[in-house]
Amino acid sequence: MRRKLVVGNWKMNGNLAQNEQLLRTLVNDLQGVDHADFAVCVPYPYLFQAQQLLQGSNIAWGAQNVATQESGAHTGEVSAQMLKEFGASYVIVGHSERSNAYCESDANIADKFAIAKQHGITPIFCVGETLQERESGVMEYAIANQLDAVLSVSGGALLDHAVIAYEPVWAIGTNKTATPEQARAAHSFIRERVAALHPGAAETVRILYGGSVNPRNAAQLLSMPDIDGGLIGRCSLDAADFERICRAACGI
Ligand code: PEP
Repeated sequence: MRRKLVVGNWKMNGNLAQNEQLLRTLVNDLQGVDHADFAVCVPYPYLFQAQQLLQGSNIAWGAQNVATQESGAHTGEVSAQMLKEFGASYVIVGHSERSNAYCESDANIADKFAIAKQHGITPIFCVGETLQERESGVMEYAIANQLDAVLSVSGGALLDHAVIAYEPVWAIGTNKTATPEQARAAHSFIRERVAALHPGAAETVRILYGGSVNPRNAAQLLSMPDIDGGLIGRCSLDAADFERICRAACGI
């Protein structure tokens, strides 16, 4: 039985004062809510603050990107070892906002996935189709390509207990949410694809839905079979909204 997981993706938002208020409120309001796992993926400079405020709570923290190298002359990059030093449990890899704007290749994303795992950080590997791909009927082909590029180079052991986020690009930041049935169908497809490549991993991989999840649609989406939680953008910046989504994942 997979535990549900709700992860906030703060993107490039926040400041020390706002973060403190948000995190303190979440720690307080989610105390004792223990039927699911919760995490926030914060901008790098706030990892220390997240570590200070979340340590000992039931909310984990992580980052939104990681370098493919261990160390060295890579100006502007942050290594998995550095994330580990700040207690990061998760790192988002392959988010469409990054792969589009910063030209991340599939090979690059596969390396990020592998290096995170090697350092004991759970990668949250994002896949999803564009509107054009969905409308032209090549959605499964597009998702399969993204999955295969990473899963075919990661052994089954690396995939075990990893997290995949299905994030249709057309639903991110748009207030257009996939219907529960559309999301369920995509999640089943992803799990079948994982099973085909690494049969042992299919049951342990958690597949999150991301794309305009809010407190009003969360319960329906997160109760669908094969949807193991959510990756939440805008609504993770509001303590009350994020708390309600976390509670919806617990069925309360
Ligand atoms: C995201 O960026 O991962 C995301 C799902 O954003 P939003 O919830 O704002 O659509």
